[in-house]
Amino acid sequence: MLREAEVVVLGAGVAGLTLARLLWERGRKVLVVAEALGEASRPPVALVNPLRGRRFTLAEEGERALAAALAFYGRFVPLHLGVFRPVPEEDRPKVAGRLSRLKHRWEKEGVLLEEAFWLEPRPLLARLAEGLPLLRGRVLAWEPPWLVLEGGGRVRGEVLVYAGGGRGAHLLGLEGRHVPGLVLTLLDYFPRAVSYRVYLAGAALGGSYLPGEEGYRLPPPTEGEVEWLLQGAEALVGYRPRVASLWRGVRFRLSSFLFPVEGGFALTGLGSTGFLYAPLLAERLAERL
Ligand SMILES: Cc1cc2nc3c(=O)[nH]c(=O)nc-3n(C[C@H](O)[C@H](O)[C@H](O)COP(=O)(O)OP(=O)(O)OC[C@H]3O[C@@H](n4cnc5c(N)ncnc54)[C@H](O)[C@@H]3O)c2cc1C
Repeated sequence: MLREAEVVVLGAGVAGLTLARLLWERGRKVLVVAEALGEASRPPVALVNPLRGRRFTLAEEGERALAAALAFYGRFVPLHLGVFRPVPEEDRPKVAGRLSRLKHRWEKEGVLLEEAFWLEPRPLLARLAEGLPLLRGRVLAWEPPWLVLEGGGRVRGEVLVYAGGGRGAHLLGLEGRHVPGLVLTLLDYFPRAVSYRVYLAGAALGGSYLPGEEGYRLPPPTEGEVEWLLQGAEALVGYRPRVASLWRGVRFRLSSFLFPVEGGFALTGLGSTGFLYAPLLAERLAERL
């Protein structure tokens, strides 16, 4: 088997599919090669929230990334607008100072980010992939201009883009942080996202309890982890939601998300902000290609 395209994208997660979709819409000959539709990109729910963590850090270029994400994803799936961030009393002046350009409204317990949102990644990936040339297979080696596939096939790209997340990082020797996270799917439903330590949105409760590691590994859920999530939820909404099932994923974090590599570019290492940054960075890369 031999196939070629102008741009060959390794990976069909939110990074690879967003880029491939933008190139395809610009009339470029693009081919996506992936084992599956998304890996880390398959949590039941994803928050697109530029105000990060318990320190309320404003993500770099957060407002611009949010605007790009709103415009892009809104074409494919429903967006559930509004992320509520409870803010401890002592942090309010600091947080207020960071919010100027983000549309928001203060409430008694914290701040509502009116244009932050949550969405369901699985239908999003399916919609992004519709009509795109996609070759299912495992890539064993990155040998520009070739990708070498399991079973002996090869794919040739004038430009290769690595968007293989943490699972494929060894192909390029990318060394980053792999942080396992757990999401519980719930019988309860939270139309408005709320996030502090853990997050509740739609029928999902998520957070990161385990420390980061150097290699990619999918550890089984632990009892402590589930208990920690449920305690976090109780602190937010006053009761423990009922759990239906579990989803484990691994975030892959690098210090830079878009950079040149041999034979092309990498768009990867997006940590816990993949859905926030993918449209902004994919647009930038699509302009360059
Ligand atoms: C528990 C959890 C919750 C999260 N919550 C959020 C959230 O609320 N908001 C947010 O913005 N982000 C969230 N994230 C992070 C976000 O999911 C990631 O940043 C994002 O999904 C990364 O996307 P990606 O396209 O880079 O990689 P991935 O989704 O991991 O995609 C990698 C792709 O490459 C393919 N691939 C890899 N290796 C090979 C190979 N050798 N051969 C062929 N194909 C290969 C895979 O099949 C897959 O298609 C969360 C992550 C986790 C784990």
